Amino acid sequence: MREYREIELQESQLVKVCCNQCGKELVVQDGILKEGCFSVDYPFDYFSNKDGYIYSFDLCESCFDRWVDGFQNPALITETKEFL
Ligand SMILES: [Zn+2]
Repeated sequence: MREYREIELQESQLVKVCCNQCGKELVVQDGILKEGCFSVDYPFDYFSNKDGYIYSFDLCESCFDRWVDGFQNPALITETKEFL
């Protein structure tokens, strides 16, 4: 869950990010998220029962780790060559 504050016409600045799972408020300073967060905006497609719906949520690293650790088949983890 994210909340934005309008700072100028047509612009917004990130002011708050909360984990959708546990509710923890993540550190945001000067509009920049300062800790790990799994953020997704996933549009389900035609072959899904959720076709036409976009799921958007944020998870703190602890909740992300618990989620991924529960996978029957482990997630593929690769090392990134460049940091964005
Ligand atoms: Zn959490």
